[in-house]
Amino acid sequence: MKNLVTCIVILISAQLTDEFSPATIIKNTISPAGNIFIITLDGFRWQEVFTGADSALISDEEYTPDAATMKMLYWSPDAEGRRKKLLPFFWNIIGTRGQLYGNRHYDNKVNTYNFYSISYPGYNEIFTGNTDVTVSSNNKNPNPNMNVLEYLNTKKAFSGKVAAFTSWDVFPYILNKNRGGFDLNSGYSNMDDKDNTEQTWINKVQDMTENKAATRHDLLTFLTAKEYIRINQPRVVFIGLGETDVAAHDARYDLYLEKAAEADRMIAQLWHLVQTTPGYKDNTTFIITTDHGRGKKTGSWTDHGMFIKGSSQTWLAVIGPTIKPGGEIKEDQQFYQKQLAQTIATLLGEKFVSQQSVAASIPLAVESLSELR
Ligand SMILES: [Zn+2]
Repeated sequence: MKNLVTCIVILISAQLTDEFSPATIIKNTISPAGNIFIITLDGFRWQEVFTGADSALISDEEYTPDAATMKMLYWSPDAEGRRKKLLPFFWNIIGTRGQLYGNRHYDNKVNTYNFYSISYPGYNEIFTGNTDVTVSSNNKNPNPNMNVLEYLNTKKAFSGKVAAFTSWDVFPYILNKNRGGFDLNSGYSNMDDKDNTEQTWINKVQDMTENKAATRHDLLTFLTAKEYIRINQPRVVFIGLGETDVAAHDARYDLYLEKAAEADRMIAQLWHLVQTTPGYKDNTTFIITTDHGRGKKTGSWTDHGMFIKGSSQTWLAVIGPTIKPGGEIKEDQQFYQKQLAQTIATLLGEKFVSQQSVAASIPLAVESLSELR
């Protein structure tokens, strides 16, 4: 199975290069970017985003077998060195040309507004622009609340151009696939495209995977998304990666770091694909975030939830043609996950309207595309 995956990776993967055209407060008058990609890393902590590998956890053989190798890969005495080793795309590219929010060492805070701090309520908040006390579990119940993806899909400019790919198999409920009307591929479900050789291979690998868990391998989610993007060029894309959370629940800090590093590499490849594709190039914004934090202590990092301190603490990274390069934001600010839905719409020049009230956009520092030309 691994060899087949490797073959597919070699077949499809692209080299990382970067090309970016720079893009103060979001105004309704901006000429928005034409496309948006939303990428989530399930349960990935702000601590690792901003300070890299944790010294106690990477030294603890209970959580990090073969700590020596992991330290050679991810350790550096200073936080800036560590985070760059773990997440090179975040810190070499977004860190210079985009914006990163959530470093609590500077009182820059992003939090879930819902108090459950588990996945379904988190994704519900991100995509519907509000919290819902009745959305309190990860059970496979169809979400009654409208999400910004299905809203955009009702707009002429985006109709049929919205697509989502997720590792976790609960998303067809969270995003209400039956009602949503956009392409959504989750868990180990195959993407039907008989004429596409690469997708046929990906489907075969999925079919051969033993012990299919609720969370598909992120690599398969990524390859499926990338192939769909290459062929169909959707304007709104959501990619939900899940293996960071799985590794953490398994109390494997080594794998948690590896999965984060893999996600960084996938995002780098996607950015490169975008920046070498006419229509996407200099016309696409990436928003990268997580659905919840997790425990902040050596004994609590594996889990998250209402009673585990640190679980509501999240982060946000954004890069795109209208996003003003700001790197790590060090201002005392407080933003919430529920502000993302309207932020997504605003970055596309739309206003998200739902039966529920929708929280206001995050006032990202942006510039008008027309001002740049
Ligand atoms: Zn979890």
